Amino acid sequence: MVEHAAPPRCRLCGAAVQRPPRAPASPHLQWWCSTCAATPVDHAHQLPWLYRQVQGFLRLHLGLALEQWLQPGELRLMSPAEWPAHNGRQQQGEARTWAHASPPAHGPRLVRAEVCLLQGLPALQAADVLAHEAFHVYCRAQGLRLPHELEEGTANLWGYLLLAVHPGSALADELRLRALRDPNEIYGQGFRAARLAYRQASGFGEYLQLVRAQQPLAA
Ligand SMILES: [Zn+2]
Ligand SMILES: [Zn+2]
Repeated sequence: MVEHAAPPRCRLCGAAVQRPPRAPASPHLQWWCSTCAATPVDHAHQLPWLYRQVQGFLRLHLGLALEQWLQPGELRLMSPAEWPAHNGRQQQGEARTWAHASPPAHGPRLVRAEVCLLQGLPALQAADVLAHEAFHVYCRAQGLRLPHELEEGTANLWGYLLLAVHPGSALADELRLRALRDPNEIYGQGFRAARLAYRQASGFGEYLQLVRAQQPLAA
């Protein structure tokens, strides 16, 4: 059967994107070409845009409202030179997050947070990392006390799902493969367990119920 559908267009620049042979044709996908996906996030003025990408992903695909627990003004860029050293060595990773939630005495928790992203990350990777960090703030906001492996695994799941709905670039493929093959027992194994559980659930809410029922709460 011959397929006559036009190639998908990059949501950011409009360029035609080569659809991988097995990629789905869902209208909910946000195709990003390799050039746009690799454009570095270098300046603070790009952060509100980056925030909106992750906000849109969470609303459309997980049914969550990012603005309820993280604000655009709580994002910072940090240059590699000012990236905090740890044990005398340069900090590993691409982000650091600090979050504080008020005690749940009255109504919804008030959360104050700061998410520092390493300056110069390619836009798609920065969105992946921000989705990951947003889950850590979500945990504080919801008062979720998840075991370390489950929290990091689910944070990586958010990043992975964001990549899955932004196909079209070599970077998306590379980052997804990296997550699937990560040998780290917290980030890699935790993620793969989270992914398996998510596939058995019918949404993120059900996923959380499922994994929390399976695991003892962290002390
Ligand atoms: Zn583009
Ligand atoms: Zn993390």
